[in-house]
Amino acid sequence: MKILVTGGAGYIGSVTVEQLLKRNHEVIVYDNLSTGRLSAVAEGAKFIEGDVLDAEKLAEVFSTNRVEAVIHLAACALVGESMANPLKYYQNNVIGSLRLLEAMTNAGVKKIVFSSTCAVYGEPKEIPIKETHETNPTSSYGETKLAVEKALRWFEKSYGIRHVSLRYFNAAGASENYGELHEPETHLIPNVLRVALGEKEHVEVFGTNYPTPDGTCIRDYVHVIDIASAHIKALEILDEKSEVFNIGCGDGYSVKEVIETAEKVTGKKIKVIYGDRRTGDPAVLVASSEKIQKELGWKPQFQNLEQIIYSAWIWMKKMLEVESNQLQASQGSFHET
Ligand code: UDP
Repeated sequence: MKILVTGGAGYIGSVTVEQLLKRNHEVIVYDNLSTGRLSAVAEGAKFIEGDVLDAEKLAEVFSTNRVEAVIHLAACALVGESMANPLKYYQNNVIGSLRLLEAMTNAGVKKIVFSSTCAVYGEPKEIPIKETHETNPTSSYGETKLAVEKALRWFEKSYGIRHVSLRYFNAAGASENYGELHEPETHLIPNVLRVALGEKEHVEVFGTNYPTPDGTCIRDYVHVIDIASAHIKALEILDEKSEVFNIGCGDGYSVKEVIETAEKVTGKKIKVIYGDRRTGDPAVLVASSEKIQKELGWKPQFQNLEQIIYSAWIWMKKMLEVESNQLQASQGSFHET
């Protein structure tokens, strides 16, 4: 299939594109490079620099490429930032998605896999969380993703665009070539690993008085390669129907457990400081992924946290090496001239 991947230069996008190419799909990456990197676009994919808010550019992309399906990942995705700047989240996530859907409608493209989030649930009433759980977001990030999920239902009814919304829990880990690199980094695992690498002095734990056994937040970490493979499986059912699926492993780990596991994996002591809660963070988010396992035969290949953190650690060390080689090379060429 010929697939347009918005946000294909980002963390989840880069691995999804890599996996699509491995399965011989033709891929066009559409990314504004605001948080993504050109170096994260896998060889073999066509790259178009563009913003999802740019209606003209989107129309041009669809008129010059025979796109059969869209994987829509381009979005702002930080709970904390969304609380400080909801306007940015409504603009990029809601208006950006509507522009994309308008361009798809005009071009007659009728399949979309949408990157949603467990943040649509808010504070859960039941764990593990099923797709039927009520949606009551506690952050503007979750609210904007829920708004798009709802819009998709109307776009199906009126324009026949089929959708699968994938509600990711906590994406983590790396493939051999692509991983998580944000500037500034706000996510727990890469921050913990940066401390292990000596790039950061300490990691701050956001809140120690949550109603959990050790007082820190519990999350369900799912490997980015497993997330990528869920997108590919989701494409397969779009011929038949629209759906919403959770993607998680079903195991919850507290922030303290993540730090302890990272110490074990890296063999390094990680300095921790304890701070206040981050607004918008629910205490516990753990998925039931029974539905996607049953309906699409998806199953996480990376089942334990140690494996997930190990893959991120190997990739981060490799990146650091590449960076220091590049630095040495540029210093070398500076001395030569
Ligand atoms: N967290 C933390 N320190 C950090 C980053 C995150 O204590 O430097 C906590 C955060 O409050 C949440 C969990 O770790 O409970 C996972 O956060 P992350 O930002 O990685 O993912 P999110 O759950 O926001 O998608």
